[in-house]
Amino acid sequence: MRILLVEDDELIAAGIISGLTQHGYHVDHCVTGKQAEAALRSDQFQLLIFDLGLPDGLAIPVIQRLKQQGLSAPILVLTAWDQIDRKVAALDAGADDYMVKPFDLRELEARIRVLVRRQQARTDDVLNYAGVSMDLAQQSVSYQGQALVLTRREWLLLKEFLLNPKRILSRERLESVCYGWDGDIESNTIEVHIHHLRKKTTKDLIRNVRGMGYMLAAESEVDDAN
Ligand code: CA
Repeated sequence: MRILLVEDDELIAAGIISGLTQHGYHVDHCVTGKQAEAALRSDQFQLLIFDLGLPDGLAIPVIQRLKQQGLSAPILVLTAWDQIDRKVAALDAGADDYMVKPFDLRELEARIRVLVRRQQARTDDVLNYAGVSMDLAQQSVSYQGQALVLTRREWLLLKEFLLNPKRILSRERLESVCYGWDGDIESNTIEVHIHHLRKKTTKDLIRNVRGMGYMLAAESEVDDAN
């Protein structure tokens, strides 16, 4: 899952990036509202985190514009304890939740899970598909009851598939989910990760859709005997 963090305080940003990265998210970071709007024109994010006071003004009108343009990704805002008016204005503008600084990263991560769960109309944090079970709260994943050890990128990829079980995901999208703006990706990197995921589960789990990308196989097509 790819998150856009818009925060001008470098220390806070670094803390959030490192905490969420450890929790199996990919975080891309920018500093101004203008940069955020530019990023959203070219890239897709599953969730946005906005500090309210940005170098080019309050994030509130930016949030309002994005929501008016039909942005569906949930928005969480970060605000100081004494800024109740701003908090309310941000929620009115379309933000989905807020956190008051300073906050505990575990709470931020829990709130992110709740927002994504709500968006997907799920009631718990476990994604199940064809023998794969991924627990987003515990950060654990198993196949047919056997715990799997995944690299961070494999986790990001498998999670993207499990969050979108019926969609064809293009290689570009999978690259963006795994690497964001990190750049310098070898052309076959996604293929290599998928190869490893198949080896760790079953070769049938993820199928190639020629010229379009990859998708999870129908559950009936996944051979449980593998
Ligand atoms: Ca700020």
